Amino acid sequence: MKLRYYTYDLQLKHTFTIARGSRDVNTVVFVELEHDGITGYGEASPSTRYDETPESVIEFIKRIDTGKMADPFQIERNVQYLSSLSENDTSARAAVDIAMHDWVGKALGQPLFRIWGLSPEDTPVTSFTIGIDTPDVLIDKIKEAEEYPLLKIKLGGDNDEEIIDTIRSVTDKVLRVDANEGWSIREIALEKIHWLQEEGVEFIEQPMPADQLLDTAWLREHASVPVIADENVVSMFDVPGLRGAFDGINIKLMKCGGLNAALKMIYTAKLMKMKVMLGCMVESSAAISAAAQLAPLLDYADLDGNLLIKNDPFKGVTIKEGKLILPDEPGIGVTKTGGM
Ligand code: MG
Repeated sequence: MKLRYYTYDLQLKHTFTIARGSRDVNTVVFVELEHDGITGYGEASPSTRYDETPESVIEFIKRIDTGKMADPFQIERNVQYLSSLSENDTSARAAVDIAMHDWVGKALGQPLFRIWGLSPEDTPVTSFTIGIDTPDVLIDKIKEAEEYPLLKIKLGGDNDEEIIDTIRSVTDKVLRVDANEGWSIREIALEKIHWLQEEGVEFIEQPMPADQLLDTAWLREHASVPVIADENVVSMFDVPGLRGAFDGINIKLMKCGGLNAALKMIYTAKLMKMKVMLGCMVESSAAISAAAQLAPLLDYADLDGNLLIKNDPFKGVTIKEGKLILPDEPGIGVTKTGGM
């Protein structure tokens, strides 16, 4: 088995701002796993929120002894080996996990959703994310997002009211709100949630800092819209501890270590009667199409990272009236568009 990797700068269509900061470029690391003449593709989109950088991803990949990995069909065993190298480095592990799954699908000649027994008709509509911005730019972004029926709005800065008022002046679409840990006082967070419910918000994602779990449980008890965990749910081991504090979890391949871990988290959440959302970082169509293979299992999809960039080196999953359309192609279902 051979592993190759290279970095790639994803150029954002707009400066992307959330409660933690802004950027125009997101550097990802692509991985290619070659074995028996078949190549599987994977991608890491490292986040400094989880102490990862493109450099740390490469350092992790260099530490992998492919001689210790079994053939790529033995995903469970190989994932255990990757976890034994680091409890963290989740996006780096996700890149190898995705490449392994892509390889298996290609070796079997089937898309992953079919191998997992899922129906492509069951994919939900994905939300389209609108970052924090000035009113003029927000209005432009809402116009550009015309084809997406569900919008996810980033709040948690000091102009939440202005953002929602601006959006409501141009659209009555269903909104989802992600505060990215931006509200630290629970009474104020509750007031915001009551107000957002009146503004037609379907759920609130990560209203409070991850280390304020008791405050979040209080908030959820008093709030009348679902509260979804994101920064509070990194690995599969976090899921059981969130019962009572959240109504659902936002899983991301880059936080949990890949498709193998995401599947385990989805079924754990379902056992706990929690809602399941699958989100993403700013990623190319490689990682998004990998995540989309799980979409038939979801309550909520937020797989729009590839829609925010202008130099996507892969094509795979597409969107029709907001609904995720899974290509009937092997593995994660992607092809290179050239230029790499
Ligand atoms: Mg989030």
